[in-house]
Amino acid sequence: MERPRVELQSERYVLMLITILTIFPEMFPGSLEFSLSGKALGKLWDLKTINIRDYATNKHHTVDDSPYGGGAGMVMKPDVVHMALQSAISNYDVKPEILFMTPRGVVFSNKVVRNIMTPTIPRGIVILCGRYEGVDQRVIDYWKTNYGMMEISIGDYVLFGGELPAMVVIDSCLRLVPGIMNNAASTENESFSVDLLEHPQYTKPAVWNGDNVPSVLLSGNHREIALWQKEQAKRITQEVRPDLWMKYEVGRE
Ligand code: SAM
Repeated sequence: MERPRVELQSERYVLMLITILTIFPEMFPGSLEFSLSGKALGKLWDLKTINIRDYATNKHHTVDDSPYGGGAGMVMKPDVVHMALQSAISNYDVKPEILFMTPRGVVFSNKVVRNIMTPTIPRGIVILCGRYEGVDQRVIDYWKTNYGMMEISIGDYVLFGGELPAMVVIDSCLRLVPGIMNNAASTENESFSVDLLEHPQYTKPAVWNGDNVPSVLLSGNHREIALWQKEQAKRITQEVRPDLWMKYEVGRE
């Protein structure tokens, strides 16, 4: 299948352009610069940051104001966030996926990653990172209604900002970009790919600290190994994640 491509001003061609809207652009690429995602940066994907503060209209570059109705903290201004989002999408010739990181969003999971990344790898992803007490609801509603912006939470806890959640989402999405992982099969067998956690992994030496690698893994019998790994995956899922085990059982019925 022909992969969609994005042309950058630098005239490099990449598969996917990710734009981050943040008041702390210096936090990126952060962890994404390392290992396989780092090696592919500028080749199979690229990253652009937009400083939301650049779209503030007063001389103090204010991006936040006090909440109507009172209460603690500040709220990100709709006009400033809107201008930053408009600038972000103007870099794309095809509508990108637009994500807003928020504890009030759908909880991030393997299913959400696959929703974003399949059936076609998106040409672009734009991610809005909130700070303070969050973002004015009107701009959220506007972008949800008009551009299908998706609200995503990385879990039931509150962080200071959306930058770390954005990195989590990007890291996970990049694993599905063809060519980034050395071995495509490794994403197929990973935890959550079939509502099971992954089986335990071992490497050399075969004996460490008086503890042997399970003998079946040394047998060379691929069928036996696959059966053992499946049984281990089921055992661990049952023990650690009864909720996931229920999903697996229901899926089998
Ligand atoms: N007042 C908000 C609430 O109670 O829902 C929390 C705001 S939080 C301090 C500031 C920003 O951090 C949010 O706008 C969001 O972008 C980001 N954030 C915090 N926790 C998050 C989570 N679990 N998932 C995704 N984003 C999160």
